[in-house]
Amino acid sequence: MWDLIVVGAGISGAGVARDAARRGLTVLVVDAADVAHGTSSRSSRLIHGGVRYLEQGQVGLVYEALRERARLYQAAEHLVEPARFLFPAYRGDRLGPWMLRMGLTLYDALNLFRGEGHDSADAQRCLELEPLLAEEGLRGAVLYEDAVTDDARLTLTVLQDARRHGADVLTYTAAAQLERVPAGIDVHLEGGSVAHAREVVVATGPWTGRALLGAPGTDVVLKSKGVHLVLKAEDVPVQRPVVVQAPGDARRILFVVPWGSRTYVGTTDTPYEGDPASCGVLEQEEIELLETVRRVMPHAGLEPGNIISTWAGVRPLVRPEGAAEESVEVSRKHRIVEGDSGALGLVGGKLTTFRAMAEEVVDAVVDRLRAQWPEDRPTPRACSTADSVLVPCEPLNDEERADGLIADLWGRYGPAARQLAAQARDTPDLEPRIIDDLPYRRVELQHAVDYEGAQHVSDVLRRRIPLALTSRDLGGSVARDVATMLVDARGGRGVEIEDELERYRDEMVRETRRVPRIGAAPSSRAR
Ligand SMILES: Cc1cc2nc3c(=O)[nH]c(=O)nc-3n(C[C@H](O)[C@H](O)[C@H](O)COP(=O)(O)OP(=O)(O)OC[C@H]3O[C@@H](n4cnc5c(N)ncnc54)[C@H](O)[C@@H]3O)c2cc1C
Repeated sequence: MWDLIVVGAGISGAGVARDAARRGLTVLVVDAADVAHGTSSRSSRLIHGGVRYLEQGQVGLVYEALRERARLYQAAEHLVEPARFLFPAYRGDRLGPWMLRMGLTLYDALNLFRGEGHDSADAQRCLELEPLLAEEGLRGAVLYEDAVTDDARLTLTVLQDARRHGADVLTYTAAAQLERVPAGIDVHLEGGSVAHAREVVVATGPWTGRALLGAPGTDVVLKSKGVHLVLKAEDVPVQRPVVVQAPGDARRILFVVPWGSRTYVGTTDTPYEGDPASCGVLEQEEIELLETVRRVMPHAGLEPGNIISTWAGVRPLVRPEGAAEESVEVSRKHRIVEGDSGALGLVGGKLTTFRAMAEEVVDAVVDRLRAQWPEDRPTPRACSTADSVLVPCEPLNDEERADGLIADLWGRYGPAARQLAAQARDTPDLEPRIIDDLPYRRVELQHAVDYEGAQHVSDVLRRRIPLALTSRDLGGSVARDVATMLVDARGGRGVEIEDELERYRDEMVRETRRVPRIGAAPSSRAR
C-alpha cells in the first residue's frame, strides 16, 4: 500500500512526487507514456513571471511565478538560464512604450527588485540591440529579465530528485480507473493490475477528465493549443529573446528565442478538442506564425522551407465558470478538485509554478493522511522544496568552462556532465557531437537508455535530448542506433528495431508533419 500514487509524470506530477517523497511518504508515479510526454515537453520553455498576465490583473499569479523563478535559479542553476528579453512596441500595437514601462515597473516590484530591473530603449538603441527588427513604426522597447529552460529535462530532473528520495516511477503504465475502498483508493492500471494507495493525486494535464475524477472532472479543463517552429539561427539571428505583439485586439504575444545554433518562434493560442496525444502542427498554423513574426522581422528568413522542426502542445487551463472566454484570456492559475473516488486532481498552472502547486496539494494530502497515520512510522516532515536544490551543483571552474565537451553537456546534466565527459573520453566513439552544430553528444544516447528510463526512440531523441526539435533529419541519423540500444537493453530481437523505428516515424509525423530521415539497416547485421 503506497501512501500516495501520482497519476501523470509531467511537471505537475513530478513536482508532487518530489515534494511528497521528501516529506517521507511512500510514492508511486505512473504515466501512460514517457516522463514529460505531454505538455511538459511542448511549452515555450520559459521560466517566467508572465508579463502578459499583468494586463489581465493577475498580480498574485505573477508574484508567485516570479518568486518561483527566483527559487529555480537557486535550485537548478544549470537548467534555468536568465536572459534579457526585448519587448518592442510598434505603431498600432496594443501596448505602447509607456504601457510597457508601467507594466515592467510593476513586474520589478512584484519581483521584490531582485536582480537587474527593467530598462527602456528608444527606437535607435532597440535597432542597435536587434538589427533584425523592422525600423518602420518602431517606437521603442523595454528590456527585462526572464529565463529559458529545457522543459522536458526540468521535469526529468524533478522526478530524479523524487526517486532519490525513494519514489518509484512506472512509465508506459496508464491508470484506467480509480475506486474508493475502505483503506484508501485502488488504482486500476491498464492491463488489469491494481495498485493500492492511501491517497491519489491525478496530474494528467490536458487529459484530466471524467475517466479518473468522475463528475468533478467533467469539463474542468479548457484545452488550448500552442505551436512552435524551429529555424536556423542564421535565418533568424536574434541576440536575445524578443517578444512580439500579435496584431489586432487579441492580447496574444509570442516569443522569438535564440537557442544555440537555432531560433524558435511561438506560440499560438487556439481552442483544441480531442486527444492531446494527437496534437500536431498544421500547415496553416506554420504560415500564420511566420507571418506574424515577419511583420516585425521582415528581413529574417521566415520561410516555410527554412523550418527545421516544430512542436505543438495543449495547455490544460482551468475552465472559467460562466461565459466562455477566449483561451488567451483564461487565467493560468491552478485549481485542486476532489474526484468521486476521493482522489485530488491538480489542474492548470504553469511549468514555472510547479513547486508551489505541489506544495499546496501535498499539504492537503498530508492533512488527510494524518488521521490514519500508523504510530510506528515517523510523521511526515514539513515541505522542504522551497529552498532545496534539485541537483547539488558545484559550478564549472574556468578550465571546465573552456572544455567544449563539458560545456556541451552542462546545460542538461549539471554536475553529472563531468562523469559523462569522462565516460565519453574513455570511449572515443561516444565523444563526437551527433550533429556538428548542435551540442548533443553520442554518449548521451546510451546514458538515456541505461540511466534515464527511456523505453522508446522518442523518449531519447525528443525528450532526453531535443534532437528531434533541432536537427533537420529529426534525429534520423541516430534513430536506428537508439532503437538498437533499446531493444538490446530489453533483450529483444532484431524485428523489434523496425517496430521501434516505425513508432518513431509515426510520432514525428503526427507532431511535426515531417518525416525523420532514418538510415537503412546495415545488410550484414546478424541478429
Ligand atoms: C504551447 C504552450 C506553451 C507553454 N509555455 C509555458 C512557458 O513558457 N512557461 C510556463 O511556465 N508554462 C508554459 N506552459 C504551460 C506548461 O507547459 C503546463 O502548464 C505544464 O507543462 C502542464 O504540466 P502537467 O504535468 O500538468 O501536464 P502534462 O505535462 O501534460 O502531463 C500529464 C501527464 O499525464 C499523463 N497521463 C494522461 N492520462 C494518464 C492516465 N490515464 N494514466 C497515467 N498517466 C496519464 C500523460 O502521459 C502526461 O505525461 C505552456 C503550455 C503550452 C501548451
